[in-house]
Amino acid sequence: MTVGARPVAVDGAAAPRRVTILGSTGSVGRNTLDVLSTSAVGGAAFEVEALTAYSNVELLIAQAKAFRPRLAVIGEPGLYGALADGLSGTDVAVAAGPDALVEAAERPADFVMAAIVGAAGLKPTLAAAARGAAIGLANKECLVCAGPLLTDAAGRAGATLLPVDSEHNAIFQVFDFDRPDRVRRLILTASGGPFREWSLERMATATRAEAVAHPNWSMGDKISVDSATMMNKGLELIEAAYLFPVAPENIDVLVHPQSVVHSLVEYVDGSVLAQLGAPDMRTPISYALAWPDRMETPSDRLDLAAVAQLTFERPDDSRFPALGLARRALEAGGAATAVLNAANEACVAAFLANRMKFLDIAAVSEQVLNLALSGKDPDTPKTIASMEDVLAADAAGRRLGEAAISSLK
Ligand code: NAD
Ligand code: MG
Repeated sequence: MTVGARPVAVDGAAAPRRVTILGSTGSVGRNTLDVLSTSAVGGAAFEVEALTAYSNVELLIAQAKAFRPRLAVIGEPGLYGALADGLSGTDVAVAAGPDALVEAAERPADFVMAAIVGAAGLKPTLAAAARGAAIGLANKECLVCAGPLLTDAAGRAGATLLPVDSEHNAIFQVFDFDRPDRVRRLILTASGGPFREWSLERMATATRAEAVAHPNWSMGDKISVDSATMMNKGLELIEAAYLFPVAPENIDVLVHPQSVVHSLVEYVDGSVLAQLGAPDMRTPISYALAWPDRMETPSDRLDLAAVAQLTFERPDDSRFPALGLARRALEAGGAATAVLNAANEACVAAFLANRMKFLDIAAVSEQVLNLALSGKDPDTPKTIASMEDVLAADAAGRRLGEAAISSLK
């Protein structure tokens, strides 16, 4: 993997940069299009190569009409006809289904924004890495379930992984890649989510609407629920361990409810460098798109006097056990993080469908992780050496998760 090296894609600011967005109808995807339509790096406008979505065909059609990509892909095969009808008479090619998502990633865009949610984003992101693209990595589940495969593929092909997750983007901005041994620890900040001050009793009856109502960030439903359980910070801990040459025990988490300090790097001399900004994803998205340059964006500006106070506190493991689960899975290594990720995805989907209670998300995820680590489930692989292992670990985590969800009262 190339981290901290100049990506081929940014050569020659005069050339327009071609961008593909995987997951263009989501929160990160829409923010990326907003940046593309208002910003330019070195004065040269962006062009869109491909846009993909899963089921929001109306929005995909509207985006394709506005941005004129060469290709628009809908993940749900049954929606091919609707997409083709909506874009008939335009020069936008259309396709549908999981293989078409991979084809979209393989097309020769300079920059691929990986903004599909969940393990579904893995194959297209791997395809972009395998052809050496610059990748804006929003999808953290990719690294969590297939970290070694993704970093190896990127390394072999000379692809550049540019972190878009705000915490990792912040670390990327202040990490001294020339002297990684001078870094003592990374500190990931966490907002604490909507339930930061809730008791366990109150969380026990938390509704879907309460869980997705994030205090600072407007995001998709899945990551919003992950923020409420703090599994999001757990997944980010794993993500950081793959992105930066720092041992997992030297990656800490600090709750910072204002979401202004996006993360910090402590150096051996006691200096702590941080990146600050308003909680607006268009800033890290722009940074990844323009890197190693910077460009003007429509992002909200930080007014520190208006924020007035920045506060920090340690995470409360007893009310937010998901963070500890992620650390255990990271320390165990092998397939554990992929299994945990899949179990969590199954639980979040069940919670969003009102099929289980909020606190059971972490409880079921823990059960599945324990089972995976016990070695008692014969179909759970121990290590991740191939795509087959990733798929097997993902399937095992979902199967064990679903079984545990069904046995809940
Ligand atoms: P979202 O739910 O708003 O959008 C997800 C996108 O993925 C949509 O375009 C959807 O059509 C597509 N998609 C969903 N399932 C798919 C499938 N099976 N096949 C193909 N496409 C599929 O999600 P989001 O909040 O934009 O988050 C996207 C990713 O970025 C997640 O991994 C999340 O953790 C990460 N992230 C998001 C934010 C944020 O501000 N939203 C911040 C940091 C990281
Ligand atoms: Mg984040």
